[in-house]
Formats: sequence, C-alpha cells, structure tokens
Amino acid sequence: MARYTIIGAGPVGALMGLMLARRGQRVCLIERRPDPRTAPPERGRSINLALAARGMVALEHAGVSSHIAPQMIAMPGRMVHDEQAALQFLPYGQNEREVIYAISRERLNRILIEAAAEHSDIELRFNTRCIDLDPQSGSLQLCDEDGGSPRNEPFEILLAADGAGSAVRGALVARGLARVDEQPLAHDYKELLIAAVERGAVAGYAFEPHALHIWPRGGFMLIALPNTDGSFTATLFLPRQGAHGFDRLGHGAAVRGFFQQQFADAAAVIADLEQQFALHPQSQLGTVYCEGWQAAGRVLLLGDAAHAIVPFHGQGLNCGFEDCRVLDRLLASDGQCASALAEFERERRPNTDAIAAMALENYVEMRDGVRSALFAQRKRLAAELEREFPGRFIPRYSMVMFHPEIPYAEAQRRGAQQQRVLDRLVERFGYEAAQPAARTYAQSLLDATGL
Ligand SMILES: Cc1cc2nc3c(=O)[nH]c(=O)nc-3n(C[C@H](O)[C@H](O)[C@H](O)COP(=O)(O)OP(=O)(O)OC[C@H]3O[C@@H](n4cnc5c(N)ncnc54)[C@H](O)[C@@H]3O)c2cc1C
Repeated sequence: MARYTIIGAGPVGALMGLMLARRGQRVCLIERRPDPRTAPPERGRSINLALAARGMVALEHAGVSSHIAPQMIAMPGRMVHDEQAALQFLPYGQNEREVIYAISRERLNRILIEAAAEHSDIELRFNTRCIDLDPQSGSLQLCDEDGGSPRNEPFEILLAADGAGSAVRGALVARGLARVDEQPLAHDYKELLIAAVERGAVAGYAFEPHALHIWPRGGFMLIALPNTDGSFTATLFLPRQGAHGFDRLGHGAAVRGFFQQQFADAAAVIADLEQQFALHPQSQLGTVYCEGWQAAGRVLLLGDAAHAIVPFHGQGLNCGFEDCRVLDRLLASDGQCASALAEFERERRPNTDAIAAMALENYVEMRDGVRSALFAQRKRLAAELEREFPGRFIPRYSMVMFHPEIPYAEAQRRGAQQQRVLDRLVERFGYEAAQPAARTYAQSLLDATGL
C-alpha cells in the first residue's frame, strides 16, 4: 500500500484522492485555502462550470455522481441572444442524453471534500501551502497560511493538482526537470451575478434555465450559466484593451452604457451592475504547455497544473477529471508506480495538446461563428450526417463533449477530416443534403477519408 501526498484539494486533487482511497491507498490532501465546508466562497470567483461526459464518467468511477447530480442543471443547447435581444436555441446534441450540465465549481468542490472527509484513508490538511519540493530526496517544503516558519516533510509519491499557477511545476522547472510555456490570452474575464427575478410572490430565472446563454458580439461575448437558486453566473469576456476593451470601462456609467448597447436584455436584469463590476476581479486566461510532468518516478503533475487551457470548450475540468481516471487505471494496472507516472504523460499529452487547441478555436466560434446564419445551417447538416452515418460522422463538438471513448487527439483529427467532407458536400449540394444524390456523395467522401 503506497502513501500519496496530493498538493491542491481543488476538484482534481479531491477526486484523485477519492479514487486512490477507493483502491485502499493512503492519501494526504494538502490545500492552501481554508476548508470549503466552513469558509465562504470568494466573491466574484464562483466559476460556474459546464460538466460533460468525460467529467461525469470520472465522477461515476469515484462513486460520487449521485451526490453531485442534484446540484446539476441540464443545458441541452445554446441560447443565442442577438443585438436586438432576439433568441435562437441551438441544440448541442442529437437526443436528451447529449446535454451538458451547469454546476457551481465551489459546490462541486465542497461535495468532493465532504466525500473525502468521510474516508478513513484520506487525511485533509487545509491552510497549508506547498512552497517547494525536491523530487530526488522526496522532501517537501510546507508553510501554514496563518503564519509560522516553513518546514520540511518527506513524501513517498506526490501528485500535484495545484492548478494553473502550480508551485510544484515551478519547483520542477527551477530544477531543470520540466519545461513550461505559458501563453496568456489577450482577453480577460469578469464574473457577474444575474439574480433571480421576482415574479409575483415567487422568484424565478431571468432567462430560460435549461440553456447556456451566449451574447456573441464578434470580438467579445457575454455568457451565462444557470444556478440551482434561480440565478445565473454570467461571465464577460473582453479584450484587455481596445474599442471594446476592459480599459474603456473605468467607471459605472461607461459599464452601464456598454451593457445597454451590447447586451440590453442582460443589462435590464442586473440592477447592481455597476457595483458588481467595480467589486469583482478582472481575471486572466491562458494556456499552459508543459513538458516533463513526472520527475524521479515519484512526482507527477495533473489537471490544470500540467495543462491549463482557456475555458471556451468547457473542458478544463472535464479534462482534469479524465486525467484522474486515466492515472487511476495506470496505477492500478502497473505494479511500478514510476512507469505508470511516465506512461501517464505519454498517453495524455497528445490529448491535452489537442483540447488546448480546440478550446482556443472554440472562442472564435462562440463569440463570432454562432452569429452567422450559415453556422446554424452547417450544424444542422452535420447533425443530419450523424443521423445518416451513425458512428462514422460525429460532429467534433459532440466527440469532445459526449464521447469520452474518443480521445481528444482523435476528435481533433476526425474533426478536421469531417470539415473537409462538409466543405465538399456544401460546395456541390448546398445545405440540402437530404436528397439521395447528396447522400451517395457524402458516403463516397466518408469512404475516401476512411471515416
Ligand atoms: C472562467 C472559467 C470558466 C471555466 N469553465 C469551465 C467549464 O465550463 N468546464 C470545465 O470543464 N472547466 C472549466 N473551467 C476550467 C476549470 O475551472 C479548471 O480546469 C479546473 O478548476 C482545474 O481544476 P484543478 O483542480 O486542476 O485546479 P484548481 O481548480 O485551480 O485547483 C487547484 C487547487 O490547488 C490549491 N493550491 C494552489 N497552489 C497551492 C499550493 N502551493 N499549496 C497548496 N494548495 C495549492 C488551490 O487553492 C486550489 O484549491 C473554467 C475556468 C475558468 C477560469
């Protein structure tokens, strides 16, 4: 029986701890923040997440999905709000199983910590920060957040789930054991709460709750995901600078004016917009590309610590949860921990590179592509081809969100081939692929590409 030290009791660290403990391993979870079961969530950093199949499968594997399910709200499609506040609903999948789910990150994390706390093989230590570590000697430097001097502790196997700014990754890079390339996005984000609206005696949702709302405006966008209490968490994504940049929104009147002009229906339901805007942090986004996730056969990076991505495919956490499942499988099947850790990077990195690229592409699709009438037509045609050629043509979005059995890298490769099939089909038959000749042509294109 091995002893695992996990740095970071965020969602990935907590889930990994649960999976290991289920197989009888001893786990110590070390987290710099206070215990989420008793501490209030940070204001303006609630992050409302979209969970999809990869995340759900991992939660199921850890035996916690039934605890999470009551907190989830199904979102079967996007609700696009145009400049005139006209709405268009675009389904994500083909049936009621192909939906994504909104859940509060803070609540999800709390449920995982509660489950971990019930496990006798898991020790939880909050308010404890990892400052440094030496993989060769297996020694870890920690300090208490409420004061006290740093102290050293030995570790046997250390898993780093300490997020995008990982201190463990920093320690590996400083020792020349890993290389990192951090690519910031030129766009930042800010969270805003759309409170439940009073309708007579009862409070209700300001917009349709079963949808991911998007206000795409070309170079920027607003999105909103529902919460179980009737509110929405909205996130504004803007360039840091420029005509529609955060730098132009320095005072309340400018914020209100911008919202009224760009997102009038949202502006109408955020009474305290100016106050929220001033109070909530403006946060950065970016992609972390790292090589050398494991060191000395006993240290491994996972989740955002290894591969943080931009949030536009709603996959960062889903991918981190998938990491846990893959690592758990490798550790269970390989008696040698060191080789399992090395294999983890070999298997995962091509896939995490693929989702990093697809997430960046999806920003353009969300803020811009969805505005075009051709976008909806193309989506419809892709869905038609999926029905016509099940298993052979699956829209890339669906492969990523609803098909965990298809690795990200394969989804990216097949997605590119399918794009070419769609292009050639549209070139010859337009968007009316239902006619028999178009079907025969589509089949010949799929045969030719080996799909
Ligand atoms: C605006 C936004 C929207 C997003 N939407 C989605 C979405 O819809 N779907 C999706 O799948 N993903 C989404 N993501 C991504 C998702 O939030 C991350 O991928 C996920 O939180 C990563 O989990 P993690 O446990 O690896 O890291 P984190 O969530 O960052 O957790 C790391 C933990 O480590 C702790 N820690 C850090 N440093 C130390 C240290 N030195 N010592 C001890 N503890 C430490 C932190 O306090 C934290 O608890 C979104 C992200 C953002 C920013």
